[in-house]
This record gives sequence, structure tokens and C-alpha cells, in this order.
Amino acid sequence: MMKFENALDFARQMDANDPLKSFRERFHYPQLNGKDVIYFTGNSLGLQPKVAKDYVDDIMKDWADLAVEGHFYAEKPWWDYHERLAQPLAKVVGASVEEVSVMNTLSVNLHFLMVSFYRPTQKRFKIICEEKAFPSDQYMLQSQVKFHGFRPSDTIVEVKKREGEHFWRTEDIVSKIDEVGDALALVLIGGVNYYNGQVFDMAAITQAGKNVGAFVGWDLAHAVGNVALKLHDWNVDFAAWCSYKYMNSGPGNASGIFINKKYLGEGDIPRFEGWWGTKKESRFQMKPEFEPIETADAWQVSNPPVLSLAPYLASLQLFEEVGMAALIAKQKLLTGYLEFILGEIDKEVKSTFEIITPAERGCQLSVFLHGEGRALFDYLMQHGVIVDWREPNVIRLAPAPFYCSFEDMYRFGQLLKEGILSK
Ligand SMILES: *Cc1c(COP(=O)(O)O)cnc(C)c1O
Repeated sequence: MMKFENALDFARQMDANDPLKSFRERFHYPQLNGKDVIYFTGNSLGLQPKVAKDYVDDIMKDWADLAVEGHFYAEKPWWDYHERLAQPLAKVVGASVEEVSVMNTLSVNLHFLMVSFYRPTQKRFKIICEEKAFPSDQYMLQSQVKFHGFRPSDTIVEVKKREGEHFWRTEDIVSKIDEVGDALALVLIGGVNYYNGQVFDMAAITQAGKNVGAFVGWDLAHAVGNVALKLHDWNVDFAAWCSYKYMNSGPGNASGIFINKKYLGEGDIPRFEGWWGTKKESRFQMKPEFEPIETADAWQVSNPPVLSLAPYLASLQLFEEVGMAALIAKQKLLTGYLEFILGEIDKEVKSTFEIITPAERGCQLSVFLHGEGRALFDYLMQHGVIVDWREPNVIRLAPAPFYCSFEDMYRFGQLLKEGILSK
């Protein structure tokens, strides 16, 4: 364990020793009074990589110069533009290239994937998820269940946290899976919980679900680009994620999907299909028969939104350069430093910060600020700290290792102290 200090010099020394320090300059920072803000909301919308604009400009230029010919003759032709994203993404999620595709947006993709992986029968129809899942996931599950003629109340089984605890226990999830047993059709959980920042034991939970014959899928919105993923080795059936949180691809941008290799090339899997999922060799022969591409691209429906894939591709090139291992190494140190700073400030102001994020975490810390209120949040925002506030008084702090510095953590601690003392 490194010995941390709550001191500016120490934080600056940590930055000087940081192998990722140069990446900070490759992102645009919002400014307040001419200074970079301290950005803690990379779990909501990642900062813009400076190179993203070039990638978008290239498409705009090709469109102006080539118009329809850009599909085949642009420098990066549009008809297979999406294929360029699969390789770097496969590394980020621990998959082989053919298991990954990019299309649509996250909630839309979860619906599409449910078509293939939620196939309830009278005997096997239940779904296990975490209690208080992200609202969009709850709406998605409820509407899918109703679509199949079941009632959400007898179908969706939520695993609860124990009384007085802020996190889910793997053993409770596994025993719920065993209990539902042959009635279980699907396990679908957010790999990293958006509220408390907990990283679920995806390997153990997937294994437990497979053992009772269920499909297992993961919503990786808060996991991708944040924590180590080995979707293929964990034997996950399917997963989906958005790209605008830790993946820095821009607001509302495209989603990625993972489909386990064992389902690829299967002609009769239930699936909603469109022309971008049929073999590209014969696609433009405009034949009536659908011939699925033998990769996750078979799930693509429409021709891809190239203008939005452009900044996603730009961002993935930064992930290629840095690699997940280096990113995670910095993440552990940076979030560890933030935790230390919170502890030090807590002593100085005699407040009670309660970190509700368990030890299994990525970069996010969710902190109960007992005795504090919305005024503190306003103070932080007015002093250049972009932070997320959830009622009653939880702040979510996600220092993304790509672009946040140790000095940011130190300065945040000072502002937090001033904010509390100025009341
Ligand atoms: C952010 C997030 C979403 C957002 O879905 P969109 O379809 O991209 O709007 C869905 N699920 C989870 C768990 C999220 O964290």
C-alpha cells in the first residue's frame, strides 16, 4: 500500500509519476473562470477527446466531396465503418472480435437482445435482476415480460441488499438463482451498479445462472472502460453497453453488444433482422433470403450512423493506446487517493462521510454526506467541481483515470472542506 498524504506537493508528485499524465491534454475540459473544472461525472458523460472532431470532420468532408460514393470510396468507407470499432472494443470487454458489434443505443439493444435471449415458456419464464436497477432497465424488463403475456410481479425476481447494508452479496444472488432454478429464464444485472458503484462478481453469477440452465446477460453501462471484463471467458451469453460514459464517445452515442461465439452463425435463433445483418457479400443483390453474418453484426438492423460512430472510433483509439491494464492500474491509485482525502477531510470538519461503495469497485465512490445538504452541492458546482448529487444527500464521484489528476483530488478535498465550513 502506498502511503498517501493530503498535501498539494504530494498530489503533484503523484501526477509527475503518472504514466498516463499526457492523456489529460488530449481531452477538452469545461472551464469555470478560466480554469479547468474538476470533473467527477465521467460515469455520466465522458469528456470529449480532442481528436474526436477530426474524425467527424473527415466524414463531413467525404460526404461533401463524394456524396453517395462515400459508402465505398471514402478513406474509411461507410458501408463497413462499424467494423473498425470491433477490434479495439473486443479488447476492452474481453471478447473475440466477431463477438462484438456496435449499433443503436443501449436500451434499444437490450430490447433486441431480449428477443434472442428471453424466450419464456410456461415452466421457465422468470428473470432475476438487482433491486432498484437503473430505471430504463426496469422499464425494459417489465415491458418485455408483458409483451410475452406474463405479469411482472410473478416474473421479475429482484435480489435485495441485506437490511442495513449498502451492497449486494454474491452469495445472496447465487442462492436466489438456485432457488428459482428451473423456472429461471434469464439473469440480467448491471455489471457495475450505477448508484453505489459496486462491481458484481460477473464470473460467479454467470456460472450460477448457466448451472440452472438460464441465459445470462449483463448491462455494462457503468462497467465498460472502467473495470476488467472477460465476457468470453466468463461464458456470458450476451451484453450491451452505452459508449458515452467511461468510453467518452459523446452524448447519446451508439451502444456496443457482445454475443457469445456459440450463438454466431445460428440461422434459427429468434432475432429481429434487417439488411445490415445479412452477409455483406450478397447484401446488394437484394435477395429475399436473410443469410446471417457469422459475427455479432448479424444483430445489426439498419445501416450504421457513421457520423456518430466517428467520435466513438476516435475514443477507442485512445483506449488502444493506453490499454485497459494501465487504465485500471491508475484507477485503483486515483480512487484510493480520493478515498484517503475524504477520510482526512472528514477528520478536519468532523462531518460524517460514509462511503457506500464496497471494496469491489471501479473508479466511482458514492458518498453519503450525513448532515450536509443540497447547499454543499451548489457550493461545489459554483467552485468548479462538476459532481452528481442524488437525493437525499449522496454524491457520486467518478474520477476517470484517463483525464483526472491527483491534484484534482487534493483540490476537491480543500473545496469540500471550505464548502462545509462556510455554512
Ligand atoms: C446509462 C444507463 C442506461 C442508459 O440507456 P440509454 O439507452 O443509453 O439511454 C441504461 N442502463 C444503465 C444501467 C445505465 O447506467
